[in-house]
Amino acid sequence: MSHDQEVTNKACPCGSGKPFTYCCEPIVQGQKSAPTAETLMRSRYTAFALGAVDYLINTTAPEKRGEDDADILNDQVKYTNWTGLKILSTDLGGRSDEQGTVEFEAAFETDEQSGTLYEKSNFRKENGFWLYVDGDVEIRT
Ligand SMILES: [Zn+2]
Repeated sequence: MSHDQEVTNKACPCGSGKPFTYCCEPIVQGQKSAPTAETLMRSRYTAFALGAVDYLINTTAPEKRGEDDADILNDQVKYTNWTGLKILSTDLGGRSDEQGTVEFEAAFETDEQSGTLYEKSNFRKENGFWLYVDGDVEIRT
């Protein structure tokens, strides 16, 4: 198998069951925009799993970005290993919506602990692009 085929067949980190190449990869690389809030959520999880910090910042609502975001995120992606995403529910966030919420669980491991991050995230669409606004987060270990 050639290297390209391996990459094409690799399962997407977001757990969709689709190959990475046809799921989050083109979105994280900016070749395609996420059509729904859930797709954006999945692509952000994938970006966390792969350490695509620029993408995480670019898909955060501008007023929620902080000066230290890049440093904080770089640390997070270095020390946290994301091991699985489960979408629990979605509300709005469809192709014709302007806002939506996604409730999910993301399993993680660090050197000190393993646990689950539970979050109900709010998203909004701006100029055709979904953005992460904020969320209620709970860490369960
Ligand atoms: Zn994916």
